[in-house]
Amino acid sequence: MKIKRPVETGQVIVYEITGIAHNGVGVGKYQGFTVFTPYTVPGERIKAEIIQVKKNYAVAKMLDVENGHSQRVNPSCPIFKECGGCQLQHISYETQLALKRQQVVDNLERIGGFKNVLVHPVLGMKEPWRYRNKVQVPIGIQNGRTVAGFYRAGSHEIIEMDQCLIQPEESDQAVRLVKQLADQLGITPYDEKKHQGILRHVMVRTGIHTQEMMIVLVTNGESLPNKKEFIQRLHNSFPQMRSLIQNINTKRTNVILGEKNKLLWGEPVIYDHIGSVRYAISPHSFFQINPVQTEVLYEQVRKYAALTGEEVIIDAYCGIGTIALYLAEGASQVYGVEIVPEAIRDAKVNAEINGYTHVHFEVGAAEKVMPRWLEEGVYPDVVIVDPPRKGCQPELLDAITGMKPKRLIYVSCNPATLARDVKYLQEQGYYLQEVQPVDMFPQTMHVESVALLTLR
Ligand code: SAH
Repeated sequence: MKIKRPVETGQVIVYEITGIAHNGVGVGKYQGFTVFTPYTVPGERIKAEIIQVKKNYAVAKMLDVENGHSQRVNPSCPIFKECGGCQLQHISYETQLALKRQQVVDNLERIGGFKNVLVHPVLGMKEPWRYRNKVQVPIGIQNGRTVAGFYRAGSHEIIEMDQCLIQPEESDQAVRLVKQLADQLGITPYDEKKHQGILRHVMVRTGIHTQEMMIVLVTNGESLPNKKEFIQRLHNSFPQMRSLIQNINTKRTNVILGEKNKLLWGEPVIYDHIGSVRYAISPHSFFQINPVQTEVLYEQVRKYAALTGEEVIIDAYCGIGTIALYLAEGASQVYGVEIVPEAIRDAKVNAEINGYTHVHFEVGAAEKVMPRWLEEGVYPDVVIVDPPRKGCQPELLDAITGMKPKRLIYVSCNPATLARDVKYLQEQGYYLQEVQPVDMFPQTMHVESVALLTLR
């Protein structure tokens, strides 16, 4: 059967944008048919040209805004559209936050069937720029010239980038300088197609609170021409550099870092803290990307956990143990579980740095380890889960409901799986009290939420 669609490629339509999809693209209906148009703002009536028609929807390119929208702003970054790293720079920050909250509300209602849940306004940043503490810039060669920048959205073409407004200015400077020095000292750029040349990536990590900086040169082999001079000149220009590392990656791969690190200068790690907890950060360490908002997020978790010092708590999907350690002072026993062994190794180091002896970390799949803990008689008062986008496994949720913690705090980077899992938990006797979204990644579509559930 042929379905009649009201639009065809090349057609120019006028229609209203009523919402935003999870990838940040504006969406609305034209004669009942869904049409997506990037770089639009809900509330706008736009003129757009249809560029693609699919079975259930069409995609259009914006030509004009018919009703000027007060929440539309000029994107601050000149390569906003090519880069794809940010999706919302054309929308005022205030509206970005409102849209993120709406995403959470809509998902809870549509997927979870929750109506009238208390979803607080999103906790945003005072200054929603320059927040990333880790920057990874690919180096390449284009028309015989060294380029450093970002991959064009959905490709491996490098777009030249002078600065990125969501990462610190010093990181931009460091990348520019490394590129300059490499050019002057014969450290050739890596050619991905031929698998030749030396410098593949520059990674810069900064301790936002400590101002310490680590620079990592990812090279295609051990050789680094004019190494001494390179180190000397970089060191002279960057007094805040604490650590300079060469990482060797000779594989044909999209994975940025290779396994081997060589310390070129300074310390093998830098430090930063979240709240009063101190962390060592190496090139391979996981660490929260926006530490300022991480503190806001963890403070919310602390509030919901309402610890008195007596509680046993579990941090599932604990990464390098950041939530567990943040709460450790207020608890009598802390358990953390995480699937990546290197993360648990870091978690144990971080527990030690901070002098905690009542924190136990274990490597494994949370959905396997938690049921075993239940069998062994671990009965936590508070459980925190912070799963990846796909959410929690039912086996894990069953283990939690078997443990019967009074409070369950669900930290989520995907409101759709949050809604699905909370619906299941509600059926098992947990009540969704409230949700506090936190903006971890301003200018992008990412939305993080903290949900509090209590045992009925
Ligand atoms: N709570 C941490 C990290 C959360 S990110 C923080 O705030 O920094 C989610 C983590 O879940 C990642 O570290 C990922 O490696 C881990 N993970 C993914 N699947 C898992 C599983 N099945 N069991 C345990 N951990 C898992």
